[in-house]
Amino acid sequence: MTTIDTDPDTGLEPLEFAVTRNLAAKSTADRDAILASPGFGQSFTDHMVDICWSVRGGWHRPRVSPYGPISLDPAAAVLHYGQEIFEGIKAYRHADGSVHTFRPDQNGRRLQRSARRLALPELPVPYFLQSLRELIAVDGAWVPSGDDQSLYLRPFMFAKEAFLGVRPAHKVAYYLIASPAGAYFKGGVKPVSIWLSEDYSRAGKGGTGAAKTGGNYAASLLPQSEAYENECDQVVFLDQDRNVEELGGMNVVFVYKDGTIVTPQSDSILEGITRDSLLQLARDRGHHVEGRNVSLTEWREGVASGDIVEVFACGTAAVVTPIGTLKGRDFIDEQPSGTLAFELREELTNIQYGRAEDKHGWLYRLDA
Ligand SMILES: *Cc1c(COP(=O)(O)O)cnc(C)c1O
Repeated sequence: MTTIDTDPDTGLEPLEFAVTRNLAAKSTADRDAILASPGFGQSFTDHMVDICWSVRGGWHRPRVSPYGPISLDPAAAVLHYGQEIFEGIKAYRHADGSVHTFRPDQNGRRLQRSARRLALPELPVPYFLQSLRELIAVDGAWVPSGDDQSLYLRPFMFAKEAFLGVRPAHKVAYYLIASPAGAYFKGGVKPVSIWLSEDYSRAGKGGTGAAKTGGNYAASLLPQSEAYENECDQVVFLDQDRNVEELGGMNVVFVYKDGTIVTPQSDSILEGITRDSLLQLARDRGHHVEGRNVSLTEWREGVASGDIVEVFACGTAAVVTPIGTLKGRDFIDEQPSGTLAFELREELTNIQYGRAEDKHGWLYRLDA
């Protein structure tokens, strides 16, 4: 068990995780073979963490167990009504071998905001942090050390009560699994083409757009297929007033000629931690940053007039992706290419991998 002192902010005692080692853990050779070329989300480490929650017992039975299938009652509410949330965060290996993650308190707090919207219980942030440390304590060897490689951590929570009535579940499970991840773009970062979704939206006013919940992703799959049919990599969504929202899983950022950086902000957009961090780095460089509505018209006219000089998408998995083309039913707009996205990407990843000074105190050590 990892020892952590009582949390100074919440007064919470750390949980005592029951650890069951995986007797069929991968051999070093098998693990190394996976880490040599991990892809994304395909292989998983030897262990997982889970914590139960019930109305009566609160958070209880914290465990570290061998990774494997979960047994679920067929009437479990999540399978019927989609009461589910998740997070995505990476662990990075530094040159000295130590393992760090990036702003995990932000992910912990966002998991709580998502929980509130989905009527799920809020996992205290100290428990969230402890779950990350517990998993690294047994699976630390799974954090790869190659260029742009990381261990992708996937915390998630779902309604497991067997009950077909429609109300917030009285029994919930929190889990954490981990998957080694390679460089998102093989052979360097390439600009992506974006399909403008006109017929479908991912979220509505007052809906669940700002929560990290599976339903938003389910809603994005058909428009994403439409993007593929139109030879585009990703899809961008608009709100009911034709303002730009975001891609299926990445935020959008516009760079203007005068150095101003603008990003769509509304209660139907997920607040990305990558975006927040990149914008902070941009502010550090003297850029003026605005979170506000950006209409499709402002985007298209800005590109046409040369007012907008760069457009990029960002999120934990791919970090930063320049947008090369915006394609709609009856237009194709080539996007201007600049260097700021690449520079900010470099600056951010240098901090994450311990190659640059962590001025904002964003790193959190997981293996000590
Ligand atoms: C997770 C996610 C993002 C990116 O958030 P990060 O914290 O930067 O990883 C953006 N949009 C959606 C819909 C997401 O689910």
